[in-house]
Amino acid sequence: MKLVFATNNPNKLKELQNLLGDDIELLSLADINCNDDIPEDHETLEENATQKAEYIYNKFKLNCFADDTGLEIEALNNEPGVYSARYAGVDKDAKANMKKVLKNLEGESNRLARFRTVISLFLNDEEYQFEGIVHGNILESEKGRDGFGYDPIFEPKGYSISFAEMEMSEKNRISHRGLAVQKLVKFLLNYK
Ligand code: IMP
Repeated sequence: MKLVFATNNPNKLKELQNLLGDDIELLSLADINCNDDIPEDHETLEENATQKAEYIYNKFKLNCFADDTGLEIEALNNEPGVYSARYAGVDKDAKANMKKVLKNLEGESNRLARFRTVISLFLNDEEYQFEGIVHGNILESEKGRDGFGYDPIFEPKGYSISFAEMEMSEKNRISHRGLAVQKLVKFLLNYK
């Protein structure tokens, strides 16, 4: 089955290619010659994921899925949430985003946080959604050099290393996106 993944993020494509078997042929936006700035201007992860997948589905008439992820920090009323990419400004600077989180949590003992991913799949005129959540803690400072985004300051529950110190295969097994994708893959393999 051919499926478009509505993303331009090479890290996410790399992670997903790792997770998907041969049964599903993944196409990137570049593969379908889509250079559009796909809108994602809603207040929730669910609405943004739908908006992105629906845009591609309607314009290119191809089965498609899109994801949207947020880091939800308990002591910050679930911020940055849907604004995770541009928490410190429109230039989507990961370093500046982490700095802002650490500053806002200064002196805060509740470091509980979770990453949450919502995937919207448009398949043969139906929409399906899949959610993945990983719980953890925000560290006092950055640790590790791999990964992207907030990985250096997020320590998943049950581990004493950050996401940025974890093997990609291990991160994929337990991560928000990994869990949402596992649900997507299971659904697709059972789809008749
Ligand atoms: P997106 O919806 O997947 O583009 O994610 C929005 C933002 O959340 C990204 O720009 C990152 O800042 C952050 N993010 C998403 N997934 C991860 C992850 O696996 N690790 C660290 N940060 C992430």
